[in-house]
Amino acid sequence: MVLRIPPVTQEERTQLLHELSQKQNNSGLKPKERLAIPPQDMPQQDPAVRRSNVSEVAQGYTEEQARIEAMRCLQCRNAPCVQGCPVQINIRDFVGAIAKGEYGKALAIIKESSLLPAVCGRVCPQEVQCQEKCTVGLSLKDVSKAVSIGRLERFVADLDKNGAAAPAVAPTTGKKVAIIGSGPGGIVAAADARRAGHDVTVFEAFHKPGGVMVYGIPEFRLPKAIVRKELETLKKMGVQIITNFIVGRTRTVEQLMKEDGFDAVYIGVGAGLPSFMNIEGESLIGVYSANEYLTRANLMKAYDFGKGADTPIAVSKRVAVVGGGNVAMDSARTALRLGAEKVYLIYRRTEAEMPARVEEVHHAKEEGVEFHLLQNPKRILGDAGSNVTAIECLRYELGEPDASGRRRPVAIPGSEFQMEVDTVIIAIGNLSNPLIRQTTPGLEFNKYGNLVVDEQCRTSMPGVFAGGDIVLGAATVILAMGQGRIAAAAMNEYLAQKQVAGNR
Ligand SMILES: Cc1cc2nc3c(=O)[nH]c(=O)nc-3n(C[C@H](O)[C@H](O)[C@H](O)COP(=O)(O)OP(=O)(O)OC[C@H]3O[C@@H](n4cnc5c(N)ncnc54)[C@H](O)[C@@H]3O)c2cc1C
Ligand code: SF4
Repeated sequence: MVLRIPPVTQEERTQLLHELSQKQNNSGLKPKERLAIPPQDMPQQDPAVRRSNVSEVAQGYTEEQARIEAMRCLQCRNAPCVQGCPVQINIRDFVGAIAKGEYGKALAIIKESSLLPAVCGRVCPQEVQCQEKCTVGLSLKDVSKAVSIGRLERFVADLDKNGAAAPAVAPTTGKKVAIIGSGPGGIVAAADARRAGHDVTVFEAFHKPGGVMVYGIPEFRLPKAIVRKELETLKKMGVQIITNFIVGRTRTVEQLMKEDGFDAVYIGVGAGLPSFMNIEGESLIGVYSANEYLTRANLMKAYDFGKGADTPIAVSKRVAVVGGGNVAMDSARTALRLGAEKVYLIYRRTEAEMPARVEEVHHAKEEGVEFHLLQNPKRILGDAGSNVTAIECLRYELGEPDASGRRRPVAIPGSEFQMEVDTVIIAIGNLSNPLIRQTTPGLEFNKYGNLVVDEQCRTSMPGVFAGGDIVLGAATVILAMGQGRIAAAAMNEYLAQKQVAGNR
């Protein structure tokens, strides 16, 4: 594997770490000296090599890099980075522990607030969360020069090769909890409910648990072994995971509670219903939703079709991906890895408005994805056999800001042009899955189809809690995890009260 290690050599880094450590031990490092330490880039696979393999792109810090990076932290008294973290990880202290080489301590600090650091260190949009608030980035007037909190989180999480011992479980309460959906929110809710001594069962519609972390986010960004390790920990704790079980079809929420003896339920079914553009040609052969495309590639291993995998996927030469989020980047980069010669990313705003993580945009460009900004499809064209042959787009310009605060894209009349493609992937967003709504009369949903919950993630039905994308709309792993934790705390309290009432 070809590694591209940025500017400093290994020897230079060893020397730098030695000098910094000595200084730190003697007189301590002054803020000015910390600000002068060069930000440590992360080794990654060479773009030309990685576009034809599915191994992880970013390779993680070496120990020296991690400690040098951690020494850049000013240990601010008010730690503004913590305010930027959705689950308020004690960032200052865990980074400080890494600077001293106390990696076990650093991981323990993170785990107080986040159960999935190896996942979050890889996929959290740190540049608009903790790192955006970091004093180092603000002092250097460049958010990309903030302390690389996410990379440091990943570094300590990855050192924990065998996984922490399964957390202790309280004596059994005799209460049964059903977790519907095995995404990050469901995993955290299951762990926290089990720790409280409840009998926990996770029901998952797919044949493999893990939610979007398994069927959506590709291996080259989040190795599946990491998610498997977390699920193994759940099993070691005694959580039962039942796959191929669709709540709303196999059993309803009501049946789980009234007939199957579950005392409480967490709903974490995510936002898996793809949005389409409703333009001409969207039903042609070769048009995919990003969800379908990524599920075929990731979960069903369609790249091995005919060699062990039963699911096919288009063998494409020219692919158009529509959208500007993480899902669009993942689809475009997956298409390259599946052998496409040209991949066009079509987005109706500019790069500044793209919701994707900055690192993913950067990696997609490095790998050769062609960005077509301020453009949007008008129709998809096909041949007599209904196969996609081209996409017709309009050019756009930015107008006044819309409700999201981003400048509204405005089509330029008469600017139509066509691009020859054989595959189109629509990655413009997902809505919540309607099945639970259709089959659970007592639950309140908002006009977008999201479950309505209070600040403790309690739904309108007693004993039913919810979190993650089904509540927030398509959001992020860390927000889903945070809600899973809040919901589990409320659920544990609800069950404790139920127990007391039952004992009276
Ligand atoms: C391609 C892609 C890339 C992404 N990249 C990022 C990223 O880089 N960073 C980031 O923070 N976020 C990213 N996200 C968003 C993030 O993955 C989600 O916000 C997060 O996974 C939501 O977690 P969740 O707990 O709500 O459940 P989900 O991960 O959505 O999982 C829900 C699970 O419920 C199951 N389910 C659905 N209906 C039923 C039912 N009726 N019965 C039983 N089970 C059911 C589903 O099969 C699924 O396994 C990405 C999303 C996608 C699609
Ligand atoms: S804001 Fe930045 S420099 Fe300050 S404690 Fe947090 S990580 Fe360290």
